[in-house]
Amino acid sequence: MKRKNFKVVITVLSIVFISVSWTSSCIAGLVHKVKAGETLSGIARKYDVSVKSIAKTNNLKSIDHLQIGKKLIIPIDAKTPNAGGSADGTWHVIKDGDTLYNIARKHNIKDWKELQKINNISNPKQLQIGQEIFIPVHESVGFEIPLQIPLVVTSHYGYRNHPVTRHYRLHEGIDFRARTGTRVYASKTGTVTYAARKGGYGKTVSIQHEDDFSTSYGHLSRIYVSVGDFVRQGQVIGLTGNTGISTGPHLHFEIRYKGKSENPARHLDLP
Ligand SMILES: [Zn+2]
Repeated sequence: MKRKNFKVVITVLSIVFISVSWTSSCIAGLVHKVKAGETLSGIARKYDVSVKSIAKTNNLKSIDHLQIGKKLIIPIDAKTPNAGGSADGTWHVIKDGDTLYNIARKHNIKDWKELQKINNISNPKQLQIGQEIFIPVHESVGFEIPLQIPLVVTSHYGYRNHPVTRHYRLHEGIDFRARTGTRVYASKTGTVTYAARKGGYGKTVSIQHEDDFSTSYGHLSRIYVSVGDFVRQGQVIGLTGNTGISTGPHLHFEIRYKGKSENPARHLDLP
């Protein structure tokens, strides 16, 4: 046996398979020792199981606190059927007066029935105080910042008085200061669905990604792509500018999930 193959065999053998009794059923699992920098969602992705099932199996109350060295049981056979293989999310503890409708609204989830389905709630009118509800966060993987310059955020996502129109409304993206003519890169691989002027957004490019996410890039001075183009992450799609309703050269960048805007800061690794 070659030394390399031998090593592989030893590695495989050293993965400890264990069984954990969980209520009446038995689930087989792997043990994962938490290393520095690891997150529960990262571990869940690695094993293609849901965060929920790991949290449940290990009685984790908060998904934010993972101690280095902690041994987690990865429930390989216990994928959450409704939440999908690698769903990510947070937990909400039911308080007096909570309804699925209100919880869904609070967490920016369009349809409260999604919460009912994921959490296998048979009667949404009978929520138990103290019961934990899994809130799926639309997990995004691999968005990149669309600029390669030192970043200055001039306006965050959220409600604001529009700097030009003065109307109080949702700013559905994030603004990065950028001198006119700065290269704009596709944040993620996808297909161009819009490449033209778009009202107050000026010259705009929109890209549809494979996982129901889309990104948009506004106030451009030049557009280098056309509708239908397949673009790779990091490909130059245009140049920044000051077109549309804008108080100065900048890039307006949006991330949407199924058409609904989300805070890009949640998906980008901003400095
Ligand atoms: Zn903006």
